[in-house]
Formats: sequence, structure tokens, C-alpha cells
Amino acid sequence: MTTAANPAVLQSRAVERLVEPGNSAMCAHCAAPVKFVARSQHRQVIANVYVGNTWDRVEHYHYDCYLEAGQIYGAPSLPPNRKRS
Ligand SMILES: [Zn+2]
Repeated sequence: MTTAANPAVLQSRAVERLVEPGNSAMCAHCAAPVKFVARSQHRQVIANVYVGNTWDRVEHYHYDCYLEAGQIYGAPSLPPNRKRS
């Protein structure tokens, strides 16, 4: 029996989201703005980065850039109400 999620664990993690219009975050991998671009198919990865047990920052990535970077914060999880088609 396995547990799907453990909210008590304070460590870096990544989630996959659709890029919203007006998003102006910069990609932590390629340094280009994370906005509507064909290469990421309107998907982005938002990583909550913990240093030790303390939340440090949020990093944004194009979805493809996050894969290129080696999924350094783990495989991005999808929001429970959005399934990848
Ligand atoms: Zn990028």
C-alpha cells in the first residue's frame, strides 16, 4: 500500500501548469519569458524550491526546458483536475 502524496515533506517539487495569458515569468533554464511559445505547447513547470527544510523560491520553466534540465525537482505533477490528454 502506497501513499500518493505526503504533504508533510518539505522538499523541492514541481507542478505542470498551462501558461496563462500575461504570464511574464522568466524561464530558469533558457532565460526567455515563459509565455505563449510553440515549443512548450503552452505548458510550463512551476517549481517550489526548498533549501534545507525552508521554502526558498519559485522557479518557472518552459515544459520542454524543464525536461532538458533533467527534471531537477522531480517529475512535474499535474493538478488533480487537469489530466494530460
Ligand atoms: Zn525555457
